[in-house]
Amino acid sequence: MTKIVIVGNGMVSYKLCEKLIEKNTSASITVIGEEPRPAYDRVHLSAYFEDENAEKLSMASRDWYKGNGINLITSEKVSLINREQQTITTHTNSTYSYDYLVLATGSSAFVPPIKGVDKKGVFVYRTIEDLELMMAYGKKAKSAAVLGGGLLGLEAAKAAIDMKLKTSVVEFAPRLMPRQIDEVGGDLLKSKMEGIGIDVLLGKATSEIVGDDVMTGLSFSDDTALNVDMLIISAGIRPRDELGKAADIKTAERGGFVVNSLMQTNDEKIFAIGECASYENMIYGLVAPGYDMAEVVAEQIANENKEYTFEGCDMSTKLKLIGVDVASFGDPFCENIPHFPITINDQQNGIYKRINISEDGSKLLGGILIGDAEDYNMLHQMFINEMALPPHPQDLIIKSTGDGGAAIGVDALPDTAQVCSCENVTKGDICCSIKDDGVTDINGIKKATKAGTGCGGCMPMVNNILEDTLQKMGTVIRKEICEHFTYTRQEMFDLIKVNEIKTYDELLAKYGQGGGCETCKPLVGSLLASIWNDLILKEATIQDTNDRFLANIQKGGSYSVVPRIAGGEITPDKLIVIGEVAKEFDLYTKITGGQRIDLFGAKLNDLPLIWERFIDAGFESGHAYGKSLRTVKSCVGSTWCRFGLHDSVGFAIEIENRYKGLRSPHKLKGGVSGCIRECAEARGKDFGVIATEKGWNLYVGGNGGANPKHAVLLAGDIDKETVIKYIDRYLMFYIKTAEPLQRTAPWLEKLEGGIEYLKQVVVEDSLGIGEQLESDMEVLKAHYSCEWKEAVKNPEIRKRFAHFSNTDQDDPTLKFKRERDQKFPVAW
Ligand SMILES: Cc1cc2nc3c(=O)[nH]c(=O)nc-3n(C[C@H](O)[C@H](O)[C@H](O)COP(=O)(O)OP(=O)(O)OC[C@H]3O[C@@H](n4cnc5c(N)ncnc54)[C@H](O)[C@@H]3O)c2cc1C
Ligand code: SF4
Ligand code: SF4
Repeated sequence: MTKIVIVGNGMVSYKLCEKLIEKNTSASITVIGEEPRPAYDRVHLSAYFEDENAEKLSMASRDWYKGNGINLITSEKVSLINREQQTITTHTNSTYSYDYLVLATGSSAFVPPIKGVDKKGVFVYRTIEDLELMMAYGKKAKSAAVLGGGLLGLEAAKAAIDMKLKTSVVEFAPRLMPRQIDEVGGDLLKSKMEGIGIDVLLGKATSEIVGDDVMTGLSFSDDTALNVDMLIISAGIRPRDELGKAADIKTAERGGFVVNSLMQTNDEKIFAIGECASYENMIYGLVAPGYDMAEVVAEQIANENKEYTFEGCDMSTKLKLIGVDVASFGDPFCENIPHFPITINDQQNGIYKRINISEDGSKLLGGILIGDAEDYNMLHQMFINEMALPPHPQDLIIKSTGDGGAAIGVDALPDTAQVCSCENVTKGDICCSIKDDGVTDINGIKKATKAGTGCGGCMPMVNNILEDTLQKMGTVIRKEICEHFTYTRQEMFDLIKVNEIKTYDELLAKYGQGGGCETCKPLVGSLLASIWNDLILKEATIQDTNDRFLANIQKGGSYSVVPRIAGGEITPDKLIVIGEVAKEFDLYTKITGGQRIDLFGAKLNDLPLIWERFIDAGFESGHAYGKSLRTVKSCVGSTWCRFGLHDSVGFAIEIENRYKGLRSPHKLKGGVSGCIRECAEARGKDFGVIATEKGWNLYVGGNGGANPKHAVLLAGDIDKETVIKYIDRYLMFYIKTAEPLQRTAPWLEKLEGGIEYLKQVVVEDSLGIGEQLESDMEVLKAHYSCEWKEAVKNPEIRKRFAHFSNTDQDDPTLKFKRERDQKFPVAW
């Protein structure tokens, strides 16, 4: 019987076992791994922080190996290969002979030779044991630094901040993720990381880890220093090729066993797969290429098939951090390739997108998505399948920043498109499992095809294919939130409300499973806020970036301050206070389209001081940072205007004060005009009220932005009380039924029956829920309190606004210049 020995029991080793079993190999298989447990999902290692449940990360149990006749040996390190005798020896001196030897030894974290690196308090981020050590140490620590601002470094930094440590990322390069994103993207990513409370130090070469036995800080080559209690090193990976030297197995200059396209080393009986293999001088630090390599080896051993070869793999990636959408695919830079870049740099909403189009305009070469990576899967598919571009390629990124979604949908994908690259599952495979095998949900697809069971990055697209296929088959679709909550948004809304659930953890414990993800956490945050209107900072860790600091982060890394000026009406005294505060804190001031005054350029640690001044003067938060009511714009109306029919300013103030602080699936804007001339542009708003001879007309579902839409008439010639009643019902109905991040215009467009149906629900009360919707709104109104008022008087919350943990020093990276007598951020 052919004897196969596999060294290492990581993700790729497990995948090889699985493939060999699937291919009915008659060989005897021995797997030797040095870790104490069978292979586990390293990609989702950070989930261990949430529940310390190693079982949940496990790829397969010991029983699975046993049941399939595989001899699994753990806690045993292979220390020697004898090629002549075709044997390996372990550190306990056990010897095993092989016909085929597969090296799947992966890699270890690269630890740069910095002085002091062996001190207590220095960690790497690779195994469950690493995490356990970090967690134990973190309990006594107050601050942490992560060395390395790459994909893994940022993940480690997020883990540190979740451990409630004041966290800094130290990166040698002048920007974060220098291999995946460009300078503009890097700057935006920096502000996003700062937005979730992580300090970013760029261009810093660490010269020493200081302290006696225990580390106390870092010193840098530019003579600056950082006091910090612990350090997580994430400076890249080092392939585990140490077995190669004594056995004369060729290794590459940058490490890794040199392999050909059959994954053979210089000894054709010895294969190398996964992160320890160097193919054409490239180490693939991702799981999908490893799985592909495992398939190549399994085909040779089980089927003697030498036709299936490894041809390299695409390195597209998506960061999996809550609140920070970052992805890059194909060639993000196209440095020496003729191309046309198309970019969107929406600083206000923190979105940067870049796609590189081939010079002849025919295909996508690569791209970068920051702040909104929803279209990543589709763009990635267009890239790998070299699909034809739409007539206006800019639609691929522009539409989705507004409300429309990507210009092309999964429908356009060919059946051969490889949707899950980890498990090599095509769109056709997924469609077949739905059409032929009757699969109707995500778990069913995972079981039937294995799609999404590797790195999980393809799940949004698998979901879209499922919905698209079911819809075409005429099946009613349940849009479940994610794998942690098998409920629709509507069901979650009801569960929270009926069971009076007030926190994410409570909801997860009662109705969810696992540790949660970047889809369900912000969604639940938004639902809790919409239902209870409780202080948003109580659940800060599940909120979007801007909500954490109750401010919008701006170009250059400073923040904006926007006090509420209901209806655009302001007294001279309050105007003076704004001017005084702006002068004192050196803030740039601008009058906005929503008729209020934005103050830009605030430092994080100044925010509570600035707001203290405003609150003393009677201002409240303008909620410019939240998915909530922004402004109700008004014209001067009958008070001053010769044409005015009614008091539009007074009514706008009344409406704005009624709905201020109302949290919703997306931002809300309103407008009130004193006559049909529409100077307040009310029909460009989510709700607009226009005075008529007989009362007021109420319009709904309008918005400006990238896809402007005029609001449509919901009810005409109604009195003020009825206007309020209908807006209450309309907004509550929208809040209950809209998708996350769906504004009222696309919601109304997709609502079955459209405006006619909405009229039935709101005006005719066809569902008999009118009173309920109104009383729900009353509850929210009763719970309103100014978030900034609460924040400034709460010492715990105030602490979050310190830029550095141990000093009240400013962020030294903020840079400004003066123009037109005001302060401006220095160009990035
Ligand atoms: C925190 C984190 C997040 C990640 N996120 C992603 C992601 O989002 N997407 C993605 O594609 N990839 C991600 N990765 C990378 C991914 O986990 C790896 O590409 C994958 O695990 C590689 O699998 P492997 O089997 O080649 O190596 P490993 O998983 O490293 O397994 C190798 C095993 O061999 C053992 N071993 C080594 N030498 C010996 C010896 N001499 N004797 C016995 N045993 C030995 C090691 O102890 C180890 O258990 C992430 C990695 C980490 C750490
Ligand atoms: S239109 Fe809006 S997003 Fe665009 S630059 Fe102006 S403020 Fe920024
Ligand atoms: S909308 Fe009518 S009332 Fe209002 S300012 Fe314009 S003209 Fe005057």
